[in-house]
Amino acid sequence: KYSEEQAKRKKLFNEVQEAKGNIRVFCRCRPLSKVELSTGCTTVVDFDAGKDGCLGILTNGTTKKSFRFDRVYTPKDDQVDVFVDASPMVISVLDGYNVCIFAYGQTGTGKTFTMEGTEQNRGVNYRTLEQLFKTANERSDTFTYDISVSVLEVYNEQIRDLLATSPVSKKLEIKQASEGSHHVPGIVEAKVENIKEVWTVMQAGSNARSIGSNNVNEHSSRSHCLLCIMVRAKNMMNGECTKSKLWLVDLAGSERLAKTDVQGERLKEAQNINRSLSALGDVVSALANKSSHIPYRNSKLTHLLQDSLGGDSKTLMFVQISPSDQDLGETISSLNFATRVRGIELGPAKKQVDTSELQKTKLMLEKARQEARSKD
Ligand code: ADP
Ligand code: MG
Repeated sequence: KYSEEQAKRKKLFNEVQEAKGNIRVFCRCRPLSKVELSTGCTTVVDFDAGKDGCLGILTNGTTKKSFRFDRVYTPKDDQVDVFVDASPMVISVLDGYNVCIFAYGQTGTGKTFTMEGTEQNRGVNYRTLEQLFKTANERSDTFTYDISVSVLEVYNEQIRDLLATSPVSKKLEIKQASEGSHHVPGIVEAKVENIKEVWTVMQAGSNARSIGSNNVNEHSSRSHCLLCIMVRAKNMMNGECTKSKLWLVDLAGSERLAKTDVQGERLKEAQNINRSLSALGDVVSALANKSSHIPYRNSKLTHLLQDSLGGDSKTLMFVQISPSDQDLGETISSLNFATRVRGIELGPAKKQVDTSELQKTKLMLEKARQEARSKD
């Protein structure tokens, strides 16, 4: 049975690798919590249907609504199971592809657990960097890699640099470089050489996130947390250089906020959260319809992700769900959104070749060759 499971994993691994530019959707369901168990909540998710990426939701005890994703994780699947499937996507940033991995879902469904994880149970973010260093090391006879990270938060349509050591007085804005890529001038890009440094950087980002908010949980459910890994790769054999980035995003909770009780500052906040998530939905729809205009600029979130979402990049979405009957409405709405995302068809992903660097490296290689020849 084990080898069958391995074969299945291997097949999916190959599929993901082949799927250059395709959008993948993995569904992950958390276990029922202690509170849910003690208050008699029941499970509406049929995991038996989880075979082959199918999932059944019991909508009124008997009627079942089916969904299909590229992978479905039951509460028994752990962080390793999840990362095994995500790792090919992750590695492709070293090959010069832009990648975006994001966790979507209602608050409390495990977005942060999947992306950040805990110190004992590390999530996709940490494992990604671990994998990148490992693969970079394995390739070190041919490639050199430069890896740096930024940690940002988008809250109320404002970008905050979570690695900034002193408060930034100027508003952070997104700019487009002449070659077309998007960046935020002035943010900290921390160069990381090993996984120890990464952990320090991640802790700093995590701590900064809670500063200035009186309710940490509430704040994190209303803001988007983004980790950007920037990779510059140089192939020492042929001089090819690439410059690509991988976004790892823990989105704000997708739940609809109750219209009552929200006024003033809270109303503005609610509208802004809805704005970026609905902008994400609009981008998804435009991509799905192959529309000539993709409205990335309608929110800070989609504008930031523009290079890595759709187009010639690779996208992986985790749709996080709760198993509880209490959350049925939100679960269905998240699964419907994820189904729309999965329906997007993209052309092949494109390597982000850095032509200016390529020129420099070619000259350098030529010089090295001439020197070697003159020594002969
Ligand atoms: P979100 O970020 O979506 O609001 P969290 O990641 O904070 O949700 O998860 C809510 C709670 O559920 C946390 O206590 C977390 O540890 C737990 N949890 C989430 N997913 C899992 C899982 N797959 N296995 C075990 N516990 C989980
Ligand atoms: Mg969270």
